[in-house]
Amino acid sequence: MIERILGPTRLRRIQRAFRHSAVTVLCLFLTVVVLRGTVGAGKFGTPEQDFNEIRNHFSSRGRRVEPRRVLEEAQPETTTKPADQSNNYATFDISKILVDEGEDEKPDPSRPYSLGPKISDWDQQRAEWLKNNPDFPNFIRPNKPRVLLVTGSSPKPCENPVGDHYLLKSIKNKIDYCRLHGIEIFYNFALLDAEMAGFWAKLPLIRKLLLSHPEIEFLWWMDSDAMFTDMAFEVPWERYKDHNFVMHGWNEMVYDQKNWIGLNTGSFLLRNCQWSLDILDAWAPMGPKGKVRDEAGKILTRELKDRPVFEADDQSAMVYLLATQRDQWGEKVYLENAYYLHGYWGILVDRYEEMIENHHPGLGDHRWPLVTHFVGCKPCGKFGDYPVERCLKQMDRAFNFGDNQILQIYGFTHKSLASRRVKRVRNDTSNPLEVKDELGLLHPAFKAVKVSSTTS
Ligand code: UDP
Ligand code: MN
Repeated sequence: MIERILGPTRLRRIQRAFRHSAVTVLCLFLTVVVLRGTVGAGKFGTPEQDFNEIRNHFSSRGRRVEPRRVLEEAQPETTTKPADQSNNYATFDISKILVDEGEDEKPDPSRPYSLGPKISDWDQQRAEWLKNNPDFPNFIRPNKPRVLLVTGSSPKPCENPVGDHYLLKSIKNKIDYCRLHGIEIFYNFALLDAEMAGFWAKLPLIRKLLLSHPEIEFLWWMDSDAMFTDMAFEVPWERYKDHNFVMHGWNEMVYDQKNWIGLNTGSFLLRNCQWSLDILDAWAPMGPKGKVRDEAGKILTRELKDRPVFEADDQSAMVYLLATQRDQWGEKVYLENAYYLHGYWGILVDRYEEMIENHHPGLGDHRWPLVTHFVGCKPCGKFGDYPVERCLKQMDRAFNFGDNQILQIYGFTHKSLASRRVKRVRNDTSNPLEVKDELGLLHPAFKAVKVSSTTS
């Protein structure tokens, strides 16, 4: 009854409080007995000595009792407390609450895979919407499209104890870049289509977001294992005005050599238009998990240069699509290599100190890469393609390299690229608004003024 009124948690709290006060009263009683004993034995001193003695006694009592208090709380857990009431996070089995209910929706084997109902007039539908919603323009300034950065990870906790910490670092890094550049951000945690698990999960997600956000002009997909290492670099949007799909890569490697690493699909820009829906449809058929993906993997390994034997992946499928249907898609695809829209970590991470020594943020290329992508590290998985120590150490360095550019706005920097600790690089002043950071990134307050004054 009391439990129903107070709720089980409150009731337990009150019971525990009673236990504690009982212990405290008992200790006080014992202390008085002991004190009386010492006083009775004729150990008198000055009032100050007496006070010190009493204080020491009490403080040592506190110290002595502490372990018992811990013991008392720990004991019922192992003896009488049911396992489901443990307050120990370290020993709790998370799989007890992260249950998967029901079955995944089963695909219909008689129908070929599709990302969704065929849409062929998206450009008209979207144009109409934009006309009726002038408060949500697809360009926030001339040559500054409205951009949505999309990233995500599996709905399950990582398969190793530190993976989730690196996902957190990685999303913090992306939030910082997007905040500085007026980009919106979407983190996906749901597998929208069970057939498209893993690296294919981005396809149904991207389609859904394009259709649900007609105000977005460009969608920027970025893998969870990629981090911004140049916080100041602004994408040259003007350069892509006649293109719909921008990936880091090289024309010769894709179209001539059909090399599976001729482009990278870990960080790319996709315009919100009919053409993009069409290329998503053409890209998807090798994705469905199981027989389709396995068989397609064999074709890709046979047809593409240097591709290892494994199931079909989204990157190889894109190289294959472009190389075999260049006439259809090539004109609107921009393979960028003037800066690192994606930068392979292996060739960048050992040069960060040299970059700091000789260059400055805002360049985006080999001198100060926009993105460092930890391809193959699989920080959230069980096994990667590289030694774990090198991956994690270098991910920390990449994070700190980017984070320094954020901290410096506020007058701090990491003590070294390997250090979580920070030091001051600028003393606080009584005129904080007059400070301009060393990197030439405008103080956020000035940036806000600049944006609103150009739009008004
Ligand atoms: N991903 C996802 N859901 C999943 C698994 C992966 O959204 O269930 C995303 C995640 O952002 C990941 C990306 O897919 O970074 C591609 O995988 P990964 O980076 O491991 O491939 P790699 O870049 O090493 O080829
Ligand atoms: Mn990746």
